[in-house]
Amino acid sequence: MNTRGAPVNVETRAKLYEGKAKIVYATNDPRLIVQYFKDDATAFNALKRGTIVGKGVVNNRVSAAMFERLERAKVPTHYLGALSDREMLCRRLDIIKIETIVRNVVAGSLAKRTGLDEGTPIRQPIVELYYKSDPLGDPMINDDHVRMMKLATPAELTWMRRMALRINRILRPHMWKRGLILVDFKLEFGRAGGRRYLGDEISPDTCRLWDRQTGEKLDKDRFRRDLGGVEEAYQEVYRRLVGTSA
Ligand code: UDP
Repeated sequence: MNTRGAPVNVETRAKLYEGKAKIVYATNDPRLIVQYFKDDATAFNALKRGTIVGKGVVNNRVSAAMFERLERAKVPTHYLGALSDREMLCRRLDIIKIETIVRNVVAGSLAKRTGLDEGTPIRQPIVELYYKSDPLGDPMINDDHVRMMKLATPAELTWMRRMALRINRILRPHMWKRGLILVDFKLEFGRAGGRRYLGDEISPDTCRLWDRQTGEKLDKDRFRRDLGGVEEAYQEVYRRLVGTSA
C-alpha cells in the first residue's frame, strides 16, 4: 500500500457526493476525503450510460501514478495516497467550478468547432475553460465570464492556466515514453487552507490517449463512439502507466 505518509487512522464516514464515475466520502478528519472510483461510465452529459468492467481500478491506479509523478515535479495535488484498488485519500478541496482543458492535437469538440481534422497537431498547446455545470452541459467560457460569475479570482485563473501548461509539459513526455500520445485532457483545481491544488482525477476517462505507433484510441472515446475493445484499452493504459495488469 502506498499512503505517502498519510494518517493511518483515517476512517471513512458519510457519503458526501456521488458523481457519474466516483463517490466522495467524508472521513473522521474534516480536511480529508476518500474518492471511490466506480465502473459506471457516462457520456454526452449522461445521455449515454454503461459499465466498463475494471475501470474504477484502472482510473484509481492511473490517477495515483500521475499525481505521484506531478508531486515529484512540485505540482501541488490533492492526492495523499492510495488506500485500496478503488480508493484514494485526498485533501478536501473547495472545487473551482471550471473545467480546464489542455490540447496538443485536434480532437472531439475542437474538431467540431473548427472543422479541422481530428489528429491535426497543435503547435502551441491550447488551454480552454468550461463552466462546470451539469444542467447547462458544461458550456465553454472565457476569462471575462469567469470574472463576471466570480468563479475564480484573476490571480487564480492565471495560476490555473500556468499550472495546466506545466502539467502538460510533465505528462506529455512521460506518456510519450510509454507509447502514448497525450492528445488532450481535463483538469479541475480547488482551494484548501489558503492554498491551491490540482484535484479530481487523471485517467483514460479525462484524457485522450492515442497509441504512439498505430494512433489507436486508448481512452473513453472507445465507449463514447462504440468502437469496441473498451475494457482492453483501459487495461493497456494501466499496463503502460502503472506497470502490471489491473
Ligand atoms: N473531458 C472530460 N470531461 C468533460 C469534458 C471533456 O474529462 O466533461 C475531457 C475529454 O475526455 C477529452 C478532453 O476533456 O480528453 C477534451 O474534450 P472535448 O472538449 O473534446 O469534449 P468531447 O468532444 O469529448 O465531449
